[in-house]
Amino acid sequence: MSEIDIPSIKQRLWHRMRGDLTSLVPYFSDNDLLLCPTCFRRLGFEDFSVEHIIPKQALACDPPEARLAIPQNERSGLTLLCRRPLIIKNRKIPGNGCNSWKGKYYDPSIREFIQSDLNETIISTRHQISLFSVGYLALFREFGYQISLLTSGLLMRSQYFNPNSFVKNIPVTSQIILAGEKISNYSENERNYWSDPFKITVNENSAQIVMRNACFSMPLSRDPRKPLARSLLYVPPKYTFRPDLRTAFD
Ligand SMILES: [Zn+2]
Repeated sequence: MSEIDIPSIKQRLWHRMRGDLTSLVPYFSDNDLLLCPTCFRRLGFEDFSVEHIIPKQALACDPPEARLAIPQNERSGLTLLCRRPLIIKNRKIPGNGCNSWKGKYYDPSIREFIQSDLNETIISTRHQISLFSVGYLALFREFGYQISLLTSGLLMRSQYFNPNSFVKNIPVTSQIILAGEKISNYSENERNYWSDPFKITVNENSAQIVMRNACFSMPLSRDPRKPLARSLLYVPPKYTFRPDLRTAFD
């Protein structure tokens, strides 16, 4: 799919994300706003732009056969992030909101991680936190706002705004990356390696994310596959949901 289709992609993502959010937090059915998945500010359509979760630059070295067979947007995975300048602790951050924040702090490391020979690359904390941030967006893309609204969502969103070190309470298991041999050539048998950017397995308190040849773990305070009680007054605790609407830097 070419860049020319981006406006309609934005519309589709907007409506899907709005539908999901209003089902969880009815407050949003009375307005035309959306929570930015990372900063959690309540913003209108014009304040968002389409974000490639695996950045486009990282896909530039995919083999020509893969580029031909699978559109770029499918190889990267998409979401909306805000583009309104961030103000953190009364300081205006240059650039266009969470979109620029990811571009500045994480995209170069994601690109390096995907394109390098990992046997010859020193994996830094920044690489790890970049993948952690990708993991959060991958979970959001798969399961929607309930991921962001959980206690573990607040923790992951806090990490997004701390690019230099892991924040307290991030489990040690989420500070490890396992990697296998990179696939360098495209074949139809391995189409899935390129076409499905994030393979997610949910366990009791975590989700394992496979991104191409890497695997890492994300914390989860609730299994997002379990059904949510949206209208019953009395339900067992595991079916209840208390959205945490704090921004990561409140
Ligand atoms: Zn934002």
